[in-house]
Amino acid sequence: MQELLLLLLPVAAASGWLAARRSARKEKVPQGCETNPVYFRGLNHLLNEEPDKAIDAFVEMLEVDSDTVETHLALGNLFRRRGEVERAIRIHQNLIARPALTREQRAQALLELGQDYMRAGLYDRAENLFRELKETKLHVKQALSNLLVIYEKERDWKACLDVADELESITGSKMMLQKSHYYCELALAARVQGRGADALGYLKKALSTYRGCVRANHLQAQFASAQGDYRGAIKILRQTAEQDADYLPEVLPEIVSNFRHLGDLQELKTLLGEIVGQRPGTGAELAMVDLLIEQQGEAAAADFLADQLAREPSLALLLRSIELNARMPDAQSVKFLEGLRPHIRRLLDQRPIYQCNNCGFAAKTLHWQCPSCRRWSTIKRRPACETEP
Ligand SMILES: [Zn+2]
Repeated sequence: MQELLLLLLPVAAASGWLAARRSARKEKVPQGCETNPVYFRGLNHLLNEEPDKAIDAFVEMLEVDSDTVETHLALGNLFRRRGEVERAIRIHQNLIARPALTREQRAQALLELGQDYMRAGLYDRAENLFRELKETKLHVKQALSNLLVIYEKERDWKACLDVADELESITGSKMMLQKSHYYCELALAARVQGRGADALGYLKKALSTYRGCVRANHLQAQFASAQGDYRGAIKILRQTAEQDADYLPEVLPEIVSNFRHLGDLQELKTLLGEIVGQRPGTGAELAMVDLLIEQQGEAAAADFLADQLAREPSLALLLRSIELNARMPDAQSVKFLEGLRPHIRRLLDQRPIYQCNNCGFAAKTLHWQCPSCRRWSTIKRRPACETEP
């Protein structure tokens, strides 16, 4: 607050003095009455330790003319950065209302006001401003980037695609990943509305836009599975995991469930064995434990777990091992193991499993768009976090 007043005080004084001098020239006001009374009101508030009212008074008396446009812009910007959005809005609205602005000044003020509205969460108003700004042919890239944020928030994916096309054409850099996510979103919406053919069409577009779109492949597999094409689903899911091994823990439970639908447990066991050998900690161990319990009993599963724990210890494996051992007929070990269990459970529950590799945002579930930095496909499972039991 103090720094703001220090900035405002001389500017307001100069502005008030200029204004007063101008009207003095016209109206022949006697010498000595040149200072604007609002300035004294502001000073008065300041002396009464009412900095808020003082700032408002000074802002009110700032005359907009070609000399002070930059000051207004800087001041508005400062207010917005300090979180005082209402004041920033007032300054920028005041600026835009002036007919004397140059084309560039007006565009700059529109951009600033649009950002104020964004900050205040007034997305409808911001959208109108950025559209207007786009038409001026100035700051088009900023206008489009802001429109993209607004349409993403509004989940208007078709509008996002249009804006992304425009951005691509003016920046020359491709937005394949984002666009493929927009198509995925459209596919999901179409599926919810029972428009299966449209949904598949959107997924095809997602994949033709960006071949490596893990999410589109994953959705395609889910669609196949829902239609009873379990083999097809497994094929797509395995390809997806090969495409980007980071997503193996995401697709593995569905691979398992598709094999179970098929009733082909032998092939499942072979696949799980391969994954356990090559990529420990992806959840394949726990799927294997379930399978062993069904096929060979709990003792065999407990032995398998003990081997895996010796090889690559992890909390999830430890917990499963305790659960299994607790059912074994050994009173002493039961007591010991049961005592450990809640602590380990708590440790598992506490950790964020996912993290954004762009901004570091930590999460417990997989967000395709980072809630913090709003990038797409940057959130991934942290390497040390295996699938929960
Ligand atoms: Zn992020």
